[in-house]
Amino acid sequence: MSDGPSASDGGAAPLLDHFGRPLRDLRISVTDRCNFRCRYCMPREVFGTDFQFLPRSEILSFEEIARVARIFATLGVRKLRLTGGEPTLRAQLPKLVAMLAQIPDVEIALTTNGSLLASQAQALADAGLDRVTVSLDSLDDAVFRAMNDASFPVAMVLEGIAAAEAAGLAPVKINCVVRRGVNDHTVAGLVRHFAGDGKIVRLIEFMDVGTTNGWRLDEVVPARELIGRLSAELALVPLEPQYRGEVAKRYGTAGGRGEIGFITSVTEPFCGDCTRARLSADGSIYTCLFAVRGTDLRGPLRAGASDDAIAQIIRDLWSRREDRYSELRSEATTQLPRVEMSYIGG
Ligand code: SAM
Ligand code: SF4
Ligand code: SF4
Repeated sequence: MSDGPSASDGGAAPLLDHFGRPLRDLRISVTDRCNFRCRYCMPREVFGTDFQFLPRSEILSFEEIARVARIFATLGVRKLRLTGGEPTLRAQLPKLVAMLAQIPDVEIALTTNGSLLASQAQALADAGLDRVTVSLDSLDDAVFRAMNDASFPVAMVLEGIAAAEAAGLAPVKINCVVRRGVNDHTVAGLVRHFAGDGKIVRLIEFMDVGTTNGWRLDEVVPARELIGRLSAELALVPLEPQYRGEVAKRYGTAGGRGEIGFITSVTEPFCGDCTRARLSADGSIYTCLFAVRGTDLRGPLRAGASDDAIAQIIRDLWSRREDRYSELRSEATTQLPRVEMSYIGG
């Protein structure tokens, strides 16, 4: 007999954490590998030729991922986001999307560096993908090649974005991590290009995720400063939040059809409304991007645990959750150990 609502009963009362935050989003890392070496995420000195990525046997199968996602949906999750590492490197990703699309009432999104999107967008859309976010830090080819440290050209990412739109995945969202002295001088050009064209741009403050990216506060361009700088050039118009807890501070541009959102993770943290859990490629659950350790689900999954038993592990974990790292960030917290973003999923 189970000691809580069954994993198949659609969930009764919403599952809330210690601070009353519901569980709404699950980010799923489908691989810890990537074909880029963005310096703010997987610096080549660390993630170079000797780096030990997860062996295949440790990575969750599509069946295991879909099962976990289905259980999360019964606990209140309404949005699944496939990420990594680079999710499009995982073989047959559309097959996973098709499996997830069977889960009722959940939206399926993908975050990708766009490098393989031109050849995969149609199959992903056909499988049931709802939305795509493409990371592109600059339209300046030299700046972009230096940031991805794989000399990957802008033009191929733009092809991927066009393919996503042609496959019906519009509006495409563009993620841009802003780093002072690296790409901040190219942000206005990027915003003008995409927002003028009906796309959604998200400008993200450079975060101290993981311990390898050499993060420094003086390389963060506070959103407030960026808004001031862009307002001078682009006549930004603030937009009303669409729902409580919306992470991005949203603006339109006068005359443009698109939208610009600022993700103020460092300078104006939004932990109070954080409803996200993360599933690492090897099957652990993390309740914060800055967590030190996760809770293993792969062990119980492979040992034959029932859906109810898995649901109970998640319920126990979420109801104990007290994470609010970004609100507590300080000199001291940036020295703490934590997992890499490419492993738990950005
Ligand atoms: N490889 C895919 C991509 O780049 O879109 C998905 C995984 S990536 C870890 C997810 C998102 O995290 C990307 O938009 C990336 O730019 C962002 N990201 C990675 N490291 C970051 C950092 N240090 N600060 C802010 N955002 C970061
Ligand atoms: Fe790869 Fe994405 Fe990290 Fe860049 S941000 S290294 S593309 S996982
Ligand atoms: Fe959520 Fe942790 Fe980020 Fe706060 S620091 S918004 S709790 S992931």
